[in-house]
Amino acid sequence: MEFIREYANWFYLIGAILFILTLRGLSGPKTAIAGNRYGMLAMAIAVLTTFFVAENPVIWMILGAMVLGAIVGIARAKTVPMTQMPETVALMHSLVGLSAVLIAIAAIIHNNKLIELGPDLLAANGVTFHEMSKVHLFELFVGCFVGAITFTASVFAYGKLAAKKWAKTISGAWVKPVQALIFIAMLAAGIHFFLTGNMTSFWAMTGLALVFGWVWIAPVGGGDMPVVVSLLNSFSGWAAAGIGFTLENNMLIVAGSLVGSSGAILSYIMCKAMNRSIINVLFGGAMGGTATATAGAGEQVQRNHRSGSADDAGFLMSNADSVVIVPGYGMAQGRAQNAVKELANLLKEQGVTVRFAIHPVAGRMPGHMNVLLAEADVPYEDILEMDEINSDFPATDVVLVIGANDVVNPAAKDDPSSPIYGMPILEAHKARTILVIKRSMATGYAGLDNDLFYNDKTMMIFGDAKKVVEDMTKAINGTGH
Ligand code: NDP
Repeated sequence: MEFIREYANWFYLIGAILFILTLRGLSGPKTAIAGNRYGMLAMAIAVLTTFFVAENPVIWMILGAMVLGAIVGIARAKTVPMTQMPETVALMHSLVGLSAVLIAIAAIIHNNKLIELGPDLLAANGVTFHEMSKVHLFELFVGCFVGAITFTASVFAYGKLAAKKWAKTISGAWVKPVQALIFIAMLAAGIHFFLTGNMTSFWAMTGLALVFGWVWIAPVGGGDMPVVVSLLNSFSGWAAAGIGFTLENNMLIVAGSLVGSSGAILSYIMCKAMNRSIINVLFGGAMGGTATATAGAGEQVQRNHRSGSADDAGFLMSNADSVVIVPGYGMAQGRAQNAVKELANLLKEQGVTVRFAIHPVAGRMPGHMNVLLAEADVPYEDILEMDEINSDFPATDVVLVIGANDVVNPAAKDDPSSPIYGMPILEAHKARTILVIKRSMATGYAGLDNDLFYNDKTMMIFGDAKKVVEDMTKAINGTGH
């Protein structure tokens, strides 16, 4: 035990290196499992070392909380459908924010209690006490307000992604001035606390930060929520790092910083994929959602589209040289990944070149399509990212869009008035023939109509993704090519 205490920083260093290897491993599908294992090991080292480093830990409380957390975590991990991962992740970030706030509150109350007892009584009981330095107060102030903002903002993001009634997008001319007012009041209270140690200011800052988190994220539209979730991930890391300083725990500082910076990088990548700046996402107002959905619906009635059967589609694909499959949220929703893999295998057996094209924000979470295709054992070399495949579409015989909508909407390229104008898309409209599987002409996540569905080269195959893909496979098998 003494040994672990003495060499705690070395253990933390090993943990930190393992966390870095985790992030590296998670950056590619082939190394992701190893990455996960490094993460588990790093976490075990971090938790065990902290156990020995802590002064007078209340073991039953810590173990009780860990067991309770493990029960809830395992139960949730076993039951959560892949389609509900984004909101689950948002909810988990809220817990990091909440713990940062609670730790800051506990540290301050503890400090105040010690001051109340007075140095003489403490010395008589063998307690050494140093009054909190300004640096400590600053860390607390930052850790607490970043944590509080992360908490309520993540709860809202959870509600929004889970389509809860209470998570309503707010809009109007009043929003920005109110946001600014709350933010300035929060900073003023925080600075007052920092300068004077006044507890009323501390509570005011915490309360205002909680309100700010909500009003800050509530105007953000559904289409931008993935960026927000990844940004909140980053925030939760910074809050944890801030609290790491308060607790003088090097591991927490390093792990928090890793989460903070990787979340920031992911937010940047996603913003680029949607052609949005982070400022535009956070303060530009809602993108997508129900308002635009109704506008799109009006248009749909008058426009003509061509539809066909799974048999027709099967015939077209089995006679093609190259097929590119574009999966989207509908493939996840319809749990069609295994059926899709079988279809791809069958086409390959018939000499057709089959590849998958993945848009960075297809589905409902970063890497959503990669996870599903990996689950179905689609070979990694068949899966191409947007930048790798876009130039191949003009030479592609058939593109098969399975439950994707926004990520193949040509309005993002051609229509400057579209809310998604400028967002990079998979250029499926450039292929020779376009097949689209979806259940209706309904809009996708951003609530926008999609010109691709009315393109002369497009054939819509209506139905549930899994059923249609299975029917296509049967049709191709039946033709005996
Ligand atoms: P979309 O949400 O744009 O479209 C999905 C389409 O799938 C719908 O139009 C729907 O049409 C169809 N669909 C749904 N269920 C089924 C089913 N069972 N069988 C067949 N079709 C089905 O998805 P995309 O993947 O194209 O785009 C993702 C969108 O989600 C983007 O706007 C992105 O910004 C956003 N987003 C992304 C996140 C991420 O991190 N990846 C997180 C949150 C949002 P119909 O109802 O007619 O069947």
